Amino acid sequence: MKKALSKKNLWDKTPLWLKSTLGRGLGLIPPAWLLGKSFRANCEFVRDAQWWAVERAQAYQINKLREILKLAYENTEYYRRMFDSAGFHPGDLQTLDDINQLPTIDKNVVIENLSDMCAKNVTAADVDYVSTGGTSGTPLHFYLNANRSSGEYAYLTTSWERIGYELGVSMAVLRGRTVQPDRNGFRREYDPILRHHYYSSFHMSDENMARYLEHIATIGPCFLHVYPSTIAALTRFVLRSRINVPRNVQGIIAESEIVYPEQRQMVAEVFGCRYFSCYGQSEKVALAAGCEKSNDYHVWPTYGLFELLDDNDNPVNTPGQRGEIVGTGFINTVMPFIRYRTGDWATYVGDRCQACAREHTIIRDIRGHRTQEILIAADGSAIPWAALNMHDDTFIHVRQFQFMQETPGQAILRIVPADGFTQEDAGRIHRNLGRKLDGQLTFTIERVDAIPLSARGKAIYVDQRIQQESRVPLDSAGDI
Ligand SMILES: [Zn+2]
Repeated sequence: MKKALSKKNLWDKTPLWLKSTLGRGLGLIPPAWLLGKSFRANCEFVRDAQWWAVERAQAYQINKLREILKLAYENTEYYRRMFDSAGFHPGDLQTLDDINQLPTIDKNVVIENLSDMCAKNVTAADVDYVSTGGTSGTPLHFYLNANRSSGEYAYLTTSWERIGYELGVSMAVLRGRTVQPDRNGFRREYDPILRHHYYSSFHMSDENMARYLEHIATIGPCFLHVYPSTIAALTRFVLRSRINVPRNVQGIIAESEIVYPEQRQMVAEVFGCRYFSCYGQSEKVALAAGCEKSNDYHVWPTYGLFELLDDNDNPVNTPGQRGEIVGTGFINTVMPFIRYRTGDWATYVGDRCQACAREHTIIRDIRGHRTQEILIAADGSAIPWAALNMHDDTFIHVRQFQFMQETPGQAILRIVPADGFTQEDAGRIHRNLGRKLDGQLTFTIERVDAIPLSARGKAIYVDQRIQQESRVPLDSAGDI
């Protein structure tokens, strides 16, 4: 299906030279206006909803849940079969607990039932095709509403506001974007509307990191938007080279990978500001963020129905107990995810934050597939795995994949091909990954029958055989 051109998509696709021309005029207009009316309405709703009493949030959830269950039942073949065999009708839902009458689903269910899970009442223009590495090294493909961006972005920016972020404040972004060098070999691009400065997280050599920090110091009050592994690398560089950190950094927003407490503390101390993180997934079933005072994750009740389930599928509601994050998303009406197991685990803290008084489910120590696996570039710098996770059709005919590396700058990409894999797929993988890697790392493709999991049953995206001091230990995440 074709990617629909929603406002944000369209902006993302605009060539940079055009953006900077447009931006010269548009830079004077507040970004919230340029992101559109629906974005502003979403922000207003989200800002208010975070303070709702639990009763009001639950009433909202019941309504949303009824809507999504009804939609799934009436418009998808998969859920109609599932509800019927469970003897459940959407009209039966009286309380939130009634959702327990339905089974949970996981990534394999989505892989096997992709077309049957899509709502029949939508057109291609309303839909985006999304792809993610997912939890077990098997690429996951699914569909999302093309117009979801403004809703999603409202939740994120409202979360970031808790540490003082405001739309329009400069943001230094190091998150896997391919950034071309300028005449002086400096890898930075600028989006004048969002006021984002993009630096290449693929070129984290000491020399480049010094230039990034030097430039960040000149952009005025700003926030850093990073992968946890990227900011850890930057911080290690600061410590190693004893250079000064830019004093204009107001806060660090680190997302998309596991946040290790020791790293959070190290980074916050070195930069002298808050290290804030949000938790979410490409499937968009649950979203959680820290607050003004606490780094524990506050689960947004209006984003989806959140459940934490133990090994026997019972709800976890004892503080200190761990469970798997299971969610029913309210945003995706194109392909509903109902009771979807994320493969991520967390510790239950309570149903209210003592520090800010928001009546949200509070969790901490989220662990799962967002590991910090890295590849080593030719110049010795680290390329985080998360930066290579392609959110498009690159791996469409690939069942499983894994990098194996023995030499800096070189790797073997092992692939378990799916039906329909041809030479064309190999070419596309080379092209798309090659564009991201930009000569920092070359790789050959090797077809294999299977890729073994780790001793703990986790997928290993990078079979890293180079011993490096700066590497984050793979399994330091704990025993999940
Ligand atoms: Zn709080």
